[in-house]
Amino acid sequence: MNHEIEALLREDLRGKSPYGAPQIDVPVALNTNENAYALSEAVRDRIAAYIGAELEHLNRYPDRDATALREDLAAYLGHGLEADNVWAANGSNEILQQLLQAFGGPGRTALGFMPSYSMHPLLARGTGTAFTDAGRHGDYTLDAEYVAARVKEHDPDVVFLVSPNNPTGTALDPETVRAAYEAARGVVVVDEAYAEFARDPESTALNLLAGRPRMVVTRTMSKAFAFAGARVGYLAADPSVVEALLLVRLPYHLSAITQAAARGALASAGELQAEVDQLRAQRDRIVETVRHWGLPVADSDANFVLMGGLADPHAVWSELLDRGVLVRDIGLAGRLRITAGTPDETTAFLEALRDTLRKRP
Ligand code: PMP
Repeated sequence: MNHEIEALLREDLRGKSPYGAPQIDVPVALNTNENAYALSEAVRDRIAAYIGAELEHLNRYPDRDATALREDLAAYLGHGLEADNVWAANGSNEILQQLLQAFGGPGRTALGFMPSYSMHPLLARGTGTAFTDAGRHGDYTLDAEYVAARVKEHDPDVVFLVSPNNPTGTALDPETVRAAYEAARGVVVVDEAYAEFARDPESTALNLLAGRPRMVVTRTMSKAFAFAGARVGYLAADPSVVEALLLVRLPYHLSAITQAAARGALASAGELQAEVDQLRAQRDRIVETVRHWGLPVADSDANFVLMGGLADPHAVWSELLDRGVLVRDIGLAGRLRITAGTPDETTAFLEALRDTLRKRP
């Protein structure tokens, strides 16, 4: 960075690195937990029709409150939720940022349990919120007692829980979420970006929202809806949380095209579920196969697997890449994270891994 610009930059941002999952063009990309399936032609046509109906109004600003989309999202979520319980933005990253703008900020703190979603500390930094990492047990698990003790100790304004967690893939048991809420004074955010892939999708923090106004469940259309490119995330919470976010959101933050596209995709939820089921099967296939090969791996509730037991994960990462398969080196000792692909992509990964491990046990 040019020195003159660096001197003008906020001190807390100097010398820091941006979020940077590599975007490399490879035959088999299993590195960013995307949905491996492109939208079918039928779904694309439906989305195009929704967008088409908006084009004649593009001279006007969109519905600032995205009411129709929030109604559709509430209907999709069920659990007695209504449009005023739901808020939508450009990816759940923007939802998380808005939550920190409203409930965090200078002089305030957020608590997370790393390793977990790497954007939580970055969004905290961007909003001037101090981020504390409360860590995990040695095997990366969390339980009610541990979480409640850390929350009490640090007394944060915002608690981040991630279930299923990225990068470990495991879901929290509801008791842990409940304990975090009871221990917390502040807002408890349960990031459920991968909820639809859970082995028990009914075990969601949506069940805990009633009577807990400080609890927020964030979701995304990037994964289960194969919609990462469209940028649509949302939350479910008490209506007053949504009212708070109206104070910080940019006016007209969600374009009319995005709102329409999201409604078209939501109208296709049934069709998209079949691909979620297929990805869950491929995820389990990865777990079973690498476990059979003797590598330690936890059962996953997400569309990815955290594989351990690698003497030199970066060398394995780079040999897989030489074979056209891109996975994620998240910098955890002995481990790599692999997104479940189509059956063919998953086969390509497993074959490349088998060849690599033969060379490098
Ligand atoms: N939360 C978690 C746990 C994630 O892994 C991701 C994406 N990798 C997100 C949120 C953000 O997703 P998006 O902004 O695409 O909704």
